[in-house]
Amino acid sequence: PSITRGVTKEISTVSWDDIGGLKDLKKELQKAVEWPIKRAAAFDRLGIPPVRGVLLHGPPGCSKTTLAKAAAHAAQASFFSLSGAELYSKYVGEGEALLRRTFQKARLASPSIIFFDEADAIAPKRTGPGGNSSGNVTVGERLLSTLLTEMDGLELATVLYVPPPDVEGRYEILRIHTRKMKLGEDVDLWKIAECTELFTGADLEGLCREAGMAALREDLSASLIRNTHFQAARSSLRPSLTKAVVD
Ligand code: ATP
Repeated sequence: PSITRGVTKEISTVSWDDIGGLKDLKKELQKAVEWPIKRAAAFDRLGIPPVRGVLLHGPPGCSKTTLAKAAAHAAQASFFSLSGAELYSKYVGEGEALLRRTFQKARLASPSIIFFDEADAIAPKRTGPGGNSSGNVTVGERLLSTLLTEMDGLELATVLYVPPPDVEGRYEILRIHTRKMKLGEDVDLWKIAECTELFTGADLEGLCREAGMAALREDLSASLIRNTHFQAARSSLRPSLTKAVVD
């Protein structure tokens, strides 16, 4: 079988400017991912070991995938993605095979970034001091051991938390997602940012879209999206986050 079966390479077009907020985090990712690839010769010359893995964690919809794509774009690296949950659900042995194929293809297309979504699906479950008491090797353990072999160990993983957006972040996200929209002069994005606490980036993207739909529902020949449309969208949508996640 072809080594590329089921593996898709993407050329990412997302740039750092497409991500609102998270200024410090973007800098960290530039240092951890973009520099070692773009300045490989300098890292080599000085003997600085490049970071091989970065673990992004945080609530869903807050741009982990988008950050990985922006890092790939900035570093001009090929982008591959894998989902832990998907690998886990495959037939015996197929998950490991896909994992190995993806690394093989990524090496050929190097420099590459492999985005591994929902990694927790293959993380070892906490079973107490005795570990896995049945003695059987579980699907998750086999996948994890394949992953570690392919990655040559994970010792150098940088761990970065991707937090939900604060008011400034929400304002920037709203600006990004209304870039191509025709907005009325009465639309105040800062005020919308203030009344969208607990909204994720994905929620805010949905809000902008919903405001556009509200304008269209009102008048099919509308040429502007106005404040009332944002208000209507705001009252019809609930945020994904809860206070407990944010605190
Ligand atoms: P999941 O864990 O559910 O995969 P995620 O953290 O990987 O979520 P993304 O898939 O990157 O989140 O984000 C979902 C969508 O929300 C993206 O398409 C993006 O357009 C938008 N989005 C999220 N955060 C931001 C942000 N900070 N700036 C601009 N857009 C954002």
